[in-house]
Amino acid sequence: MIGIVAVSHSARLGEAALELALQMVPGGGVRVDVAAGAGVDADGTPVLGTDAVAVATAIDAVAADCDGVLVLMDLGSAVLSAELALELRASDVPVRLAPAPFVEGLLAAVVAAAAGADLDAVAAEASGALAAKSGQLGEADDVAAGAGAGTADAGAGGADTGGADVGEASEDAVVRRVTVRNPLGIHARPAALIAEAAAGADVRLRRLPDGIEASAASLTRLLALGARRGTDFELIGRGPGAAEAVERLAALFDDGFGEGTEEARGEATESVRPTPGGGAAAADTGAPVAIEPGAVLRGRGVSPGRVAGPVVHVAPPLPEPDAGTVIPPDQRDAEVSAIEWAAVAVADQLRSRTAQATGEARAILDASRLLASDPELVSEATALVRTKGRTAARAVWETAAAHEQALVALGGRMAERAADIRDVRDRIIAEILRVDMPGVPDREEPFVLVATDLSPADTATLDGGHCIALVTEQGGPTSHTAIIARSLGLPAVVGLSGALEIAEGTAVLVDGERGTVTVEPGEAEVASARAASTVVRFDGRGRLGDGHRVPLLANVGGAADATTAASAHAEGVGLFRTEFCFLNRVEAPTIDEQVAAYRGVLAAFPGRKVVVRTLDAGSDKPLPFANADEEDNPALGVRGLRIARRNPALLDDQLRALARAADAESAEVEVMAPMVATVDEAAGFAERCRAAGLDRVGIMIETPAAALLAAELFAVVDFVSLGTNDLAQYTMAADRLLSDLGELNDPWQPAVLRLIGLVGAAGRAAGKPVGVCGEAGGDAALAPVLVGLGVTSLSMTPRSLGRVAAALDAVTSEECRRAADAARGAATAVAAREAAARVLSETGER
Ligand code: PEP
Ligand code: MG
Repeated sequence: MIGIVAVSHSARLGEAALELALQMVPGGGVRVDVAAGAGVDADGTPVLGTDAVAVATAIDAVAADCDGVLVLMDLGSAVLSAELALELRASDVPVRLAPAPFVEGLLAAVVAAAAGADLDAVAAEASGALAAKSGQLGEADDVAAGAGAGTADAGAGGADTGGADVGEASEDAVVRRVTVRNPLGIHARPAALIAEAAAGADVRLRRLPDGIEASAASLTRLLALGARRGTDFELIGRGPGAAEAVERLAALFDDGFGEGTEEARGEATESVRPTPGGGAAAADTGAPVAIEPGAVLRGRGVSPGRVAGPVVHVAPPLPEPDAGTVIPPDQRDAEVSAIEWAAVAVADQLRSRTAQATGEARAILDASRLLASDPELVSEATALVRTKGRTAARAVWETAAAHEQALVALGGRMAERAADIRDVRDRIIAEILRVDMPGVPDREEPFVLVATDLSPADTATLDGGHCIALVTEQGGPTSHTAIIARSLGLPAVVGLSGALEIAEGTAVLVDGERGTVTVEPGEAEVASARAASTVVRFDGRGRLGDGHRVPLLANVGGAADATTAASAHAEGVGLFRTEFCFLNRVEAPTIDEQVAAYRGVLAAFPGRKVVVRTLDAGSDKPLPFANADEEDNPALGVRGLRIARRNPALLDDQLRALARAADAESAEVEVMAPMVATVDEAAGFAERCRAAGLDRVGIMIETPAAALLAAELFAVVDFVSLGTNDLAQYTMAADRLLSDLGELNDPWQPAVLRLIGLVGAAGRAAGKPVGVCGEAGGDAALAPVLVGLGVTSLSMTPRSLGRVAAALDAVTSEECRRAADAARGAATAVAAREAAARVLSETGER
């Protein structure tokens, strides 16, 4: 076994790096010691520095149990101390000083050592540890250099990748095909699990279709593969223990490495076809079943809104053209001109779509158009026809595959363009074969688009078209589809197994909040969805008929949303869900990154109020960097403000970033915490905000506990905002994501209304504002009731502003109070709606 010594100037840095590294090898099996800092001063304060004697002692301690020792150092004099320690040590096992990055090198070395690699291999792993980061940041040359430098044998399996070394599996090899299923692909933790599961066996991973390989024992090579969700691999095992190791690895891939298993279920392999009929979480019977009218199918709601329309399927990708056909020489000219014409036609189509698109969609389309008219693509394809007699379609297919492989080999952002090449390839081939173009069909009427998943070019064509909602079989909250849907304001449900079994033309109602799709819904449901989806203009000033002001604000998740909200004349932002800026992050964002993200929102509302919610990570919105542990009841777990119990620095960094962003912009920044249940939590949060220089501090009322303590909470904060989505969930003890419990998760439930009333009364008594920022804030029928219960502002998706404004303009303060009393006094949600409607229609008649 190889042991490791980490030498750092700072004891805290050494311990933290060690903690990080040991997380990679939960099974242990590696010996690491830290020699860090230069003791403490007279006051007991740690002194920065390194001590050669301490390093030598650590080497000897580790050497006692090991066959070799690798030493990693942080900066300048750490290297000198380590060199001197080599003279001072008593042991005689081989010791190597690694010219490696301290943190990344330590992680890589620990994983390689735990997998049983020898000293050369552990040292090579540490030295090549920056390759993955360089690749991710697009420094292709560095990646190549790093990979080349690190091609030494990695002990258990060798570690030669970094090039297009497409190997063939020999006949005695065990080969299994697997797909990456977890949302974030092979990042450090899955890579460490792979190395651990393969320990002791010679197993390699071959990425498909390009054939780039990495040893399962090499953390750095695995990371450099840049594998994302959906990437296919062959696992190739050879020699003793290989079959068992390949099985262990296949199980890890199937399980999504224990991450995002809900998504992994949504993306079941073709052999597993969940039955869509009969409502939520349909059983797997392996055979398609007719979907009954009224059936409610459940996926994951990733972009809110309710709309109804007929289903249109995305045309499926084209099959691979036959490689066996050879065109006789005298017919090759016709094939060549078919390619040339098709490329021009596709470039033209993409050009006209580009002209209609805006922003990000325009950039994506323009890049695809340039690919379609790339002279090399066309000339290489025509050369294949002339020299080898390939059909036009086959020639385009092969040429595109070569271009795709070259991009993938470059890694980083370049590799992400591979999907665009495939998209353009399919469009040109469809044109050649005169079959339907794959992707989103053109329609003159509104439709709900249903697909396995959507390519970037598909989603880019949606803006300005007739698509009113998206439903996909694959994907999660951070998928491209989800992000585009939110930015276009299209309701979307992803991860809905069996969605493609809903026949084209079938009417469906899509609820992007609950994540449901109702097949052939009733007329009343359609009418209410239609009414909700009609956009009514808002003049930018919310008020009751008697002139009483009720500011109407917007809910946003980032700068793009904020721009949309500003153009819809929102009076400000009532809820900035900051976690939406970082959903796909494995590492916590830096303070600078946060400042940039927050300023993007603040800049859209100069001089206006922007209420920023601190990270609400956990439950339905897990953030990999904030929610590390599996929890049995995540909705009742460490989410929202509770994250700061375990990781106070995360909250303090965010507050620091917010204070900097607020200083740099003129928006009036207010900060609030999610998921507060006690007065102590609220007081502690307020204290930290004020220490960071943020003066206007509030909390969300999302738990019944907070609603009941509203009066006491107002003593320590400046305002509250009712998160009615969670308040209903926790009051009714009903998971807000379960469509079956939809009628319980209803803000019209009298129990919820009475809690809102308590908060409203406490707000009036304290003379402090009470906002609503849950979905209830955008319910035009409920708005007068909320105001009557004491709510002073409403925040909603910008599309609802006009309708809510119109509903409020039609009533007076007194009428709101009477409607609120009637609703609050009812025994059921249905009765509450009816009672409020009765009061308001009576007043409307007068
Ligand atoms: C709520 O719970 O009502 C709320 C606004 O927060 P979120 O929906 O983000 O949990
Ligand atoms: Mg909430």
